Amino acid sequence: MSEDKITGVCGNEEITFDDSPDIVHHILYSANQKPYFEVVATFLPGATLTINGLPRAEEDIKWASSCWGIDIRLVSYNDFSGGDQTVVDSRITDSDLQCDSGSTLSKNEDFKKFFREYIIPDEPTPPTRIYILYIGSDVFPNKQTIGCAHHNFSLNNYRYQIIIISDDAAKSWNKSACAHELGHIFFGTVPQQSNDDPTSNKNHPNAHSPNSNNVMYSPSGENQIITDEQRSKALKSRLIRR
Ligand SMILES: [Zn+2]
Repeated sequence: MSEDKITGVCGNEEITFDDSPDIVHHILYSANQKPYFEVVATFLPGATLTINGLPRAEEDIKWASSCWGIDIRLVSYNDFSGGDQTVVDSRITDSDLQCDSGSTLSKNEDFKKFFREYIIPDEPTPPTRIYILYIGSDVFPNKQTIGCAHHNFSLNNYRYQIIIISDDAAKSWNKSACAHELGHIFFGTVPQQSNDDPTSNKNHPNAHSPNSNNVMYSPSGENQIITDEQRSKALKSRLIRR
């Protein structure tokens, strides 16, 4: 058994990222050629917009960027948080929120229509962005889950990357939830590889790290460790932009 080498320590001030958050269309002018991922945040009715008075999506992205040591840029933002439940939120049902093979999200035509019309109208194709949907419920219907990554969600003959995050993920003790779900998407979009966490082993589910202090451990809590191996795999994702 070997100790994991530590790459990112979430919140480490030395890890900086420029330009994000806010809408970034000036990448072409950036002198910094660091690899990055693009993220779109959408708040559904009732979802908490802030963490300690600060914009929640920006806080999540900053934290996740520092964990992974990779630029993650918030390029678009949709706020339906004050919206009519019947217009938006009811399109996602309890069974859609089941975070396993029983999830019906991929068959929910109302959700797909909403996603197509309101969330991805300006998405370049093939799609490379990660869509974070913040929902108004504290937890998922199983009363345990606070986040789920739907990698390679099939729509319009393309594969989209969707993360659904509940309100309890805005609590300080769940600080790494968004970084964790992003990790699933990174690992799930590496060409010719499974979505396994590279630090997983036979005794632990393949998608997760066996190390209880790792961001990819489940639950991730406020864990702060990402290993070199994990970061290297994340950087092989086809979503990476340079
Ligand atoms: Zn997980």
